[in-house]
Amino acid sequence: MARCPKCQAFMPDGVPFCSQCGCPLTSESAASSMGMPPAGPGMPPPMGQNPPFYPNGMPGPYPPGYGAPQVPDYLVWAILETLLCCLPLGIVAIVYASQANLAKSVGNYAEAMQNANTAKTCIIWGVVGSVIVIGLYILLLVIGAAGGL
Ligand SMILES: [Zn+2]
Repeated sequence: MARCPKCQAFMPDGVPFCSQCGCPLTSESAASSMGMPPAGPGMPPPMGQNPPFYPNGMPGPYPPGYGAPQVPDYLVWAILETLLCCLPLGIVAIVYASQANLAKSVGNYAEAMQNANTAKTCIIWGVVGSVIVIGLYILLLVIGAAGGL
């Protein structure tokens, strides 16, 4: 004798469905009367095979915002230098800053950092060179004024 877990109607053994409510009858649910859903015959959950976990230091692009080193963006400074200070060094700095941003966008942080450092060096030398040139220019003006020009 089996019992319907839904409507508690008694059904003869071997009847697959309750004749009162249509609820499927299983020997487990009838025996325990807990309304447990019929479980598969020992099927393991499909999540047994996880994808391989990559520890830190995996090659390839980083997920955005995670573990990525901060590559400074010198593009604005390079453009400012081109406009205000030293045109040739500023253009070189723009090229390297653009390369740094490009390499950063594809996840190549080593190359991005290298190009960013090169851009920074160009910007620093451009500013230093501009200060020296401007200083010499002022010095020449002072000497010229002192010389009665
Ligand atoms: Zn029933």
